[in-house]
Amino acid sequence: QPSGSSKPPKPSFSRQDLQHYEESDFSWSKEAQAKLCNMFQLSKFRPLQRAAINLSMSGKDLFLVMPTGRGKSLCYQLPALCSKGFTLVIAPLVSLMEDQLMYLKCINVPAVTLNASSTKEDSKQVLAGMTDKNSPFKLLYVTPEKIAKSKLLMSKLEKSYNMGLLARIAVDEVHCCSQWGHDFRPDYKLLGILKRQFPKVPLVGLTATATSNVLKDCQKILCVQEPITLTAPFNRPNLYYEVRFKHNEDCTHQIAELIKERYKNQSGIVYVFSQKDAEVVATDLQKRNIVAQPYHANMEPSDKSLVHQRWSSKKIQVVVATVAFGMGIDKADVRFVIHHTISKSIENYYQESGRAGRDDGSADCIVFFGFADIFRLSTMVVMENTGQQKLHNMVAYCQNVDRCRRAMMAIHFDEVWNDDECNQMCDVCRHGNDYITMDITTHARDVVTIVEMASSMDEKLTPLKVCDAWMGKGPAKHRKTIKVTSLSRVEVESIIIHLLLHGYFSEDFSFTPYTTHFYLKLGRKAALLKNGNHSITMKMRRVMSHTTVKKVSETVREKSSAKVEGKRPADSDKKKSVAKKVKSLP
Ligand code: ADP
Ligand code: MG
Ligand code: ZN
Repeated sequence: QPSGSSKPPKPSFSRQDLQHYEESDFSWSKEAQAKLCNMFQLSKFRPLQRAAINLSMSGKDLFLVMPTGRGKSLCYQLPALCSKGFTLVIAPLVSLMEDQLMYLKCINVPAVTLNASSTKEDSKQVLAGMTDKNSPFKLLYVTPEKIAKSKLLMSKLEKSYNMGLLARIAVDEVHCCSQWGHDFRPDYKLLGILKRQFPKVPLVGLTATATSNVLKDCQKILCVQEPITLTAPFNRPNLYYEVRFKHNEDCTHQIAELIKERYKNQSGIVYVFSQKDAEVVATDLQKRNIVAQPYHANMEPSDKSLVHQRWSSKKIQVVVATVAFGMGIDKADVRFVIHHTISKSIENYYQESGRAGRDDGSADCIVFFGFADIFRLSTMVVMENTGQQKLHNMVAYCQNVDRCRRAMMAIHFDEVWNDDECNQMCDVCRHGNDYITMDITTHARDVVTIVEMASSMDEKLTPLKVCDAWMGKGPAKHRKTIKVTSLSRVEVESIIIHLLLHGYFSEDFSFTPYTTHFYLKLGRKAALLKNGNHSITMKMRRVMSHTTVKKVSETVREKSSAKVEGKRPADSDKKKSVAKKVKSLP
């Protein structure tokens, strides 16, 4: 761009361009349509599939961002069938590739794989086929490790390239390239070699969730010059998003009630934190007469596929699963996805909850937000560079009381967002403005002082200990020095979370050979509290703060859209209106 020009840069791919690629008069269009019907047995293309296929057939490099289950695979499988030679597909999991190969075999599409478990004989045949002019297969699936480690494979690719047989490169789950994505795989970082060695081969990268920054990063890593990015609409209008507070004792009970009352005979997934939780929660649900089965990475592959199958055919109603239950699931009529524990990032949450309602029928996505879970997750992602930040974003999504849940996700994914697109399909929009704004400055000073005092005595406090101490339940020796709060447990927890998210507290990890401990320490903003003029306000769900109304003098009921943040409401008739509102609660 010439400097000084105030014009925005011309978008490289406009709406008109897209329209052009939505046409069906390309030289390959008839063949593509025929194969769609005869081989894939599908009647018509879904939105963006035709454009993606036409772009790729025209030799363009392409990033395709489409929610899981919308049919990204077809966008390289069909071009593979309409081109000379074969398409190289990079996929992250052997199990995923095997699912694909099974499917392709069923529909008579010749496809093969090279991975760590291929036999010598198989590998030999595959490698020979790569330079066979008759192309015995149209798709070759490999793991990124194979590209990184096998010189033999690279040399064969080079030969096929020179023979004009390497038709296309497809990188599935392309967000795995970037550390900023939700599923970074180190071997994906090395895939830039493909475009450097084979610049003339069009590349298509596919993913369900990637922010524009993640995509830019992938573009750099893959050495793609000017890819065209096609993004399918991110909003899932048929999904209802809801966050509930998790009181540990009755979370499973609540889930069971929901399943029995609201989702009778309907399929769903309950996501849990650990393999042990999967077993425990599944057993709990079974005891309540729900046909539920656990699913986690530590099960036998045959048991896993049995659970998957039985669930798909409605013999099992609910799968209680860790995140291992994910890629490759394409059941259309999932009516609920309940998170027994929050996800580790909004990317993960969008993807996991997005498995609901693929048939466009209405479905619910409910997440149970529990205090202790935050720290379990925090230690779990401790090794990830951006792990804490991403978790904070997820926690902020749950802690949020005044923004549309969809708007929060849209902003997170850099989507252009218009507030009426939610259509009351989230708890905030539906029960709008059901919160109060609290001045928590004094509370913050009190609880920060507890952590400060502990650290001056060389003592580390877990968040749970901080809660207990603040509520006067700590060891007797501390009780005299601590200003005990009269806030309720949920309020105490919410304030601590707020202070963590806003930098008054921060994570202090400690490693033992067996486990990672989470302690709270003062954050970079804690010192601000020494300043008498500094104030902190927070919005809190009203239902949660029954007790607050009586006990906290700084409470005020938020008027529908008035913002009082930062101000310190003091007069008493505001208090009255709070009390009235609370009384009118069911
Ligand atoms: P993704 O990779 O985007 O998660 P897949 O490529 O695995 O999704 O496809 C998910 C499901 O959608 C598959 O069962 C596939 O057969 C189906 N599908 C793909 N394209 C179409 C279409 N045009 N019409 C109907 N079903 C389709
Ligand atoms: Mg896929
Ligand atoms: Zn909303």
